[in-house]
Amino acid sequence: MTAPLIDPFARAITYLRVSVTDRCDFRCVYCMAENMTFLPKKELLTLEELDRMCSAFVGLGVKKLRITGGEPLVRRDIMTFFRAMSRHLDSGALEELTLTTNGSQLERFAADLAAAGVRRINISLDTLDEEKFARVTRWGRLPQVLRGLDAAQAAGLAVKLNAVALKDFNEDELFTLTEFCHDRGIDLTWIEVMPMGDLGNEDRIGQYWSLTDLRAQLAQRYTLAELSDRTGGPARYVRLEETGQRIGFITPLSHNFCESCNRVRMTCTGELYMCLGQEDRADLRPALRNFPQDDAPLEQAIRAAIGAKPRGHDFDYSRQRADGQVSRHMSHTGG
Ligand code: SAM
Ligand code: SF4
Repeated sequence: MTAPLIDPFARAITYLRVSVTDRCDFRCVYCMAENMTFLPKKELLTLEELDRMCSAFVGLGVKKLRITGGEPLVRRDIMTFFRAMSRHLDSGALEELTLTTNGSQLERFAADLAAAGVRRINISLDTLDEEKFARVTRWGRLPQVLRGLDAAQAAGLAVKLNAVALKDFNEDELFTLTEFCHDRGIDLTWIEVMPMGDLGNEDRIGQYWSLTDLRAQLAQRYTLAELSDRTGGPARYVRLEETGQRIGFITPLSHNFCESCNRVRMTCTGELYMCLGQEDRADLRPALRNFPQDDAPLEQAIRAAIGAKPRGHDFDYSRQRADGQVSRHMSHTGG
């Protein structure tokens, strides 16, 4: 038996999020600049390298793999990778294979994902208004995403909707989004917007709407029962007593989850970020590429990286400026 991955603060690392591309067919205002320069293709790990990398983590005790991006479903031939990963589900080594997607390609891929053993997916959707959707995603079109959501549900995938809470943008949709999710049997999670990169947004969408305030507004209509569900991540959940619905709140800016953090993130170039809010990272690509036949150096590099996982992050909105801001975009580390 190989020893599991334990970091210096005695946290077992069982959850890997992998960005498989930095590209996207949307340009959400809080995530990307309109004119993005993407990585040259040769910088990206190939699908075979992604397989080797993820399989090494699974071999070291990772139980949950979340595929993200950029938009994971725009990566060419990505279904080959999902099908390959399903062997770890079959063997029982991996407990969950999942993804976070903007939903644009789900009409095409939902059935294939289900066939590869994906059971639950997260779809990001901030508004149900076509014009607002076009504004916040710049390049996205709402009907396409709604068709994707339909396809996912038709394929039997459990869907969770993630909405970024944006001041003066979707505050007025708190109840419509809640009801939309209830009608479709979907969990809804609100995410606090994080200070990521300099996106040059003159249109002022992307402003911080505190989830404390959002929660207080929700409590004006519903009775909120605190749930103890923990995912090892920054999400907290309540149940709406009147409808039985589960609503999540992801407050990455608070420190209340770092002590139970069980995850690390890998970029599409093979860099491992040990904490979403810190620049600490380890480049795993040399160990992968320099030893094509031998996984021992890669495992060693992974263990060394986990041995350097920081205690927590330094985001802080309580001061005038967004302290602790990190310069990279979410599309780089995959959110
Ligand atoms: N393209 C996929 C999607 O949109 O779901 C996956 C990648 S995206 C970077 C992952 C998640 O990060 C999305 O739910 C998105 O809304 C969120 N996100 C992006 N930028 C963010 C920011 N600055 N603050 C908070 N969440 C952000
Ligand atoms: Fe693309 Fe997702 Fe970023 Fe939007 S949040 S630009 S869909 S990667």
